[in-house]
Amino acid sequence: MNSSMTLIEFQRKYRTEEDCIQAIFQARWPRSFSCPKCGHDFGYRLSQRRSVQCASCRRQTSITSGTLFERSKVPLLKWFWLIYLMSQDKGGVSTTRAAELLEMH
Ligand SMILES: [Zn+2]
Repeated sequence: MNSSMTLIEFQRKYRTEEDCIQAIFQARWPRSFSCPKCGHDFGYRLSQRRSVQCASCRRQTSITSGTLFERSKVPLLKWFWLIYLMSQDKGGVSTTRAAELLEMH
């Protein structure tokens, strides 16, 4: 996520939970997926789930495990907006205000 993105750019890029999952996936495995168990470099996304299944050993890896999103019940999109709003320079919104805007209070 790039903090120099404008509000409009951000809104275009992240519209759905899936967009956020993709972004987290890219951030974790920028070049290609790597299975934590066997090191194989190809995995299948399980539809409707935040997991990838290794094409070799079939181990399922949660895309959000080990990230701050792991146990959150708050939609990823809200987290992304929060991080975006907070990453804006001076004049950006406070944590409290951002949480209010996103109905996270
Ligand atoms: Zn594997």
